[in-house]
Amino acid sequence: MPLGGNNPIRVQSMTTTDTMDTIATVEQSIRIIEAGSDYVRITAPALKEAVNLENIKRELRKRGYGTPLIADIHFTPNAAEHAARVVEKVRVNPGNYADRKKFKIFQYTDQMYENELERIRERFTPLVKVCKEYGTAMRIGTNHGSLSDRIMNRYGDTPLGMVESALEFVRICEDLDYHEIVLSMKASNPQVMIQAYRLLVAKMEEEGMNYPLHLGVTEAGDGEDGRIKSAVGIGALLEDGIGDTIRVSLTEEPEAEIPVAIRLVNRYNERGEHKVIPDIVANPIDPFERTRRNTVETDKIGGKNVPVVVLSPRFEAVSKAENLSDISYTYSKELDKWNIGDTAPDFIYLGKQDVTFALPGTLKKIFDYKYWRKLDDKSDSFPLFTAEEYIDTEKRSDKINFLSVSIDDFNDELYKQIADDKKCVIVLNTNNMHGMAEQRRVFIELMNRKLDVPVIIRRSYENVSDEELILYSAADLGTLLNDGLGDGIWIDAPDNPLKLTNSISFGILQATRTRISRTEYISCPSCGRTQFDLQETTAKIRVRTDHLKGVKIAIMGCIVNGPGEMADADFGYVGSGPGKISLYKGKEIVERGIESNVAVDKLIELIKANGRWTEN
Ligand code: SF4
Repeated sequence: MPLGGNNPIRVQSMTTTDTMDTIATVEQSIRIIEAGSDYVRITAPALKEAVNLENIKRELRKRGYGTPLIADIHFTPNAAEHAARVVEKVRVNPGNYADRKKFKIFQYTDQMYENELERIRERFTPLVKVCKEYGTAMRIGTNHGSLSDRIMNRYGDTPLGMVESALEFVRICEDLDYHEIVLSMKASNPQVMIQAYRLLVAKMEEEGMNYPLHLGVTEAGDGEDGRIKSAVGIGALLEDGIGDTIRVSLTEEPEAEIPVAIRLVNRYNERGEHKVIPDIVANPIDPFERTRRNTVETDKIGGKNVPVVVLSPRFEAVSKAENLSDISYTYSKELDKWNIGDTAPDFIYLGKQDVTFALPGTLKKIFDYKYWRKLDDKSDSFPLFTAEEYIDTEKRSDKINFLSVSIDDFNDELYKQIADDKKCVIVLNTNNMHGMAEQRRVFIELMNRKLDVPVIIRRSYENVSDEELILYSAADLGTLLNDGLGDGIWIDAPDNPLKLTNSISFGILQATRTRISRTEYISCPSCGRTQFDLQETTAKIRVRTDHLKGVKIAIMGCIVNGPGEMADADFGYVGSGPGKISLYKGKEIVERGIESNVAVDKLIELIKANGRWTEN
């Protein structure tokens, strides 16, 4: 099952069973394989698990499954060197291979840094030699949250630090003439991971390397949020043609990750014939750092405002005030008042028909221009023009003129009129199969022409399942938002529930950290080291805390890797032994060995003690 080059993008998952439990691991591996996985990764935290990989592999082969196996190694060279003789690939984490975090040294001189590299070379070389001898592949997999002390000292936990961390190991491999390498740069923040992979590609090109890439967002969580976060990160890179294998890390059964991964990947197998997008002459977007595109503020759209959310509901879905509770506007008849939730959209598009009741003040209406023109009361309503109408009309709004266009509508006259109209907001559409790239091309043109008009990115999806809607829209819109492009998003999905479309819209803004409206959960996918039922615990914590807007809570299965990998969480709930939990505030441990039956209450006490609690 070769990887890279012109091979298809491979998908994979990882077992969560105890690696010493051969039959449980074999049976879970089979479920993963049957779901369509190309590879199965199994954790080997110590030598005894690495040895047991032999039994697992033998049993799988006996049952007729030839799928390549990958041993996941942290810290222990002897486990890696044994596993490399047994399975098809080993994964090492350069942040902790032969390296325990001490943080005793705060300043590395050049000489100390060189000595560290020499020490790593000595510890890593035997593994490379075994891999060479046995024809075993290797993933050098950097994690944002577990960089080595020397990297942290020199580069901080930056994308550059992540890239250097991997390249230090790659250079050793190259010196030993070993090239069966794949690289990864995972982080729980999609933006960090996108920048790290892009930087890795650029640095590899500089050094004449072109190793394949394994893509993943770590600790993405579960359900809709986990899928959005994964699609925002992995999708953005696949959109750019980067990535040879992917793993979607969800806090769910590992076989549930595979259909999600396949759905994400399949989109890119069908793109070959997309409509041509004009070449880019000068690219004003920095791929390695997000800088929001500079736009003029137009009635709270653009400028420094968070991106707005526009919905286009079927009319029945908003024809009565009660129906709006699906989109976070709850009407109380008795009090004649609206209760407005954190995920309440800013605009609804009604086309050619008005509702018969007064909408809440924060929800404005967009109508087709011809309908809007005839309205007596235009105070909360704005026109949506076609390019032709926009150029021809003399009657525009004095607040916002939404201009619905796609790349082919732009011409000199339109550019001129946009430049003269400080009330214009572009609604950018696309029918291109490679729509993100076409829309990005329009942004580039606007930037190069120094047009600071705000842009709402609009995408339409028909005949897609709810899960496809989540993945596709997160990849399409998230990619642009991650690059600082877009002052609003507008997802049309007439076949899917409006409630879902609204929730996805806010989920994408949350995952790209452009508009925070929810609690953020960073939960590991679990593996053989996990000390408690992650799915159940995550659900329990969610129920109690999902109203804490902007608070980041990490739920990690083990104390070995958990604290390192929970990245920028505000609070951490980490398994520290059977039935025991440790709680963290940021990276600092605040309470150890708590009985798991009271640990969720203790977590809430900790959040309260730090002033981050609000009543629901
Ligand atoms: S944090 Fe620990 S339990 Fe969770 S996936 Fe990583 S190694 Fe496994």
